[in-house]
Amino acid sequence: MNENRIKDVVIVGGGTAGWMAASLFANTMGKSIRIKLVESEAIGTIGVGEATIPPIQVFNRMLGIDENEFMRATNATIKLGIEFQNWGDIGESYIHGFGYIGKSLGILRFDQYWLKSLKNGTALDIENYSFTNLAARAGKFARMDKIPGTPLDGLGYAFHFDASLYAKFLRSYAEKRDVERIEGKICKVNTDGENGHITSVELENGSQIAGDFFIDCSGFRGLLIDQAVGSEFEDWTHWLMSDRAIAVPCENEEGFEPRPYTQSIAHSAGWQWRIPLQHRTGNGHVFSSAHMSEDEATSILLGNLEGKPLKDPMTIKFKTGYRPEGWKKNCVAIGLSSGFIEPLESTSIHLIQIALFHLLKMFPTTAIEPSMRDEYNRRMQFEYSSIRDFIILHYHVNQRTDSEYWKTCREMEIPETLQRKIDAFRTRGHLYRIDGELFTEEAWTHVMLGQNLIPETYNPLADNFTDAEITEFLSNINTLLKNTVAKLPTHQQFINANCKAPVM
Ligand SMILES: Cc1cc2nc3c(=O)[nH]c(=O)nc-3n(C[C@H](O)[C@H](O)[C@H](O)COP(=O)(O)OP(=O)(O)OC[C@H]3O[C@@H](n4cnc5c(N)ncnc54)[C@H](O)[C@@H]3O)c2cc1C
Repeated sequence: MNENRIKDVVIVGGGTAGWMAASLFANTMGKSIRIKLVESEAIGTIGVGEATIPPIQVFNRMLGIDENEFMRATNATIKLGIEFQNWGDIGESYIHGFGYIGKSLGILRFDQYWLKSLKNGTALDIENYSFTNLAARAGKFARMDKIPGTPLDGLGYAFHFDASLYAKFLRSYAEKRDVERIEGKICKVNTDGENGHITSVELENGSQIAGDFFIDCSGFRGLLIDQAVGSEFEDWTHWLMSDRAIAVPCENEEGFEPRPYTQSIAHSAGWQWRIPLQHRTGNGHVFSSAHMSEDEATSILLGNLEGKPLKDPMTIKFKTGYRPEGWKKNCVAIGLSSGFIEPLESTSIHLIQIALFHLLKMFPTTAIEPSMRDEYNRRMQFEYSSIRDFIILHYHVNQRTDSEYWKTCREMEIPETLQRKIDAFRTRGHLYRIDGELFTEEAWTHVMLGQNLIPETYNPLADNFTDAEITEFLSNINTLLKNTVAKLPTHQQFINANCKAPVM
């Protein structure tokens, strides 16, 4: 082994990002590096971040985590997608469900045949051809890769969980694998006078924690990446105007059965989330402070809870954007310190996961290799901006006339990358996915159609089948999916049988 190998890695912060980093590094590199994690109970964590997307299953599998054990430990429920209410226009609802819609036929995706059928007036709403959407609406769930006896995929799913219990779960995992946790508040970051690399962090009690490589998971503060190595922040608030969230958990009332999906309810200057867990429901109102006061946002949120509030509402301020140099010198920012896109599609925990995967692949062995650092930053720029475009889509394609806020969203200039996607879809339902970007064509289809962006026509290849053949094809898929959903257990039955958390 090379004598100069990077050996001492210091993680600053013990929120979701810090403990995800510690767990993954301990699991994959624990034999070649020593890991210390510094966190401060007095500062605490952000305390939100409870809805995820399906790739989290990959993260859990990499750690060898048993899914039922993880769900029990974190009071988790299943998430099949997100229901968007009032987004296209007030009174409307659609679900962005995970997984496939119908089945492709030849070279075309299912939605092209659906479009042809829509034009001749025989298609049902697109949700009727998505297994995940039908199961979500019916409150049903079972783990299945395929619908038995068919080539159709089973249910795509992710989780809702208690963020503090998830961090605790991962902490126990990481500590069992020799991660050393150090309690204390960092009051100073020391750097090398010549190259500006971080050499150590200093705690209030005077102790110093030295390292070769530092992972900044200190949250919005960006204690190392901003304050010590000076990485700039690129502001995206001209596209995503929300800058506040009010969060409050509420009771699950007697007999409450958690929906297997998140709800996102648009209001006049933002939107409200409902995240049902086994023991309580997480709620929040994300809004633009330029368009609504904090008092009004709080009152809207409290007026829309489904149970008694369990705490006083908490205000969180944020700025949308990211750091193009998320890796600078010997410091990589992961989690909120690296940037933030509002939680509309639950992408922050995923950005932590994907940043860790990229970092693992490009982790320096001895000195920092500029090619690896630059490639990491390029890749994260792509991850952030492609998620950004998808989130802007939800705001931009709206027909609401009730407030200045929605009018501004509709009329604003959007990134050219997004405009191209909208134009291709509007023309004839064409969608494309660049370079392994996160959101699938199905995800874009759900949101675009759900918000009333209906293509002018369909791909002419769909004319290779007659109207009658397509009507029969759609009808067969819908019947099969409905019959399969009817046989599934309810979400609550699934939880009771597999992963019910002990009552505290
Ligand atoms: C309103 C809102 C809703 C969200 N909802 C979702 C969601 O549904 N899904 C999703 O994927 N993501 C969501 N997120 C994002 C998610 O909360 C974060 O990505 C996730 O919690 C990771 O946070 P973090 O670990 O980076 O920061 P934090 O949780 O803030 O942790 C920071 C850590 O750094 C430590 N620290 C800071 N300063 C010091 C110091 N001086 N000395 C020692 N320690 C220090 C703190 O003690 C803490 O341990 C949401 C975010 C917001 C703001």
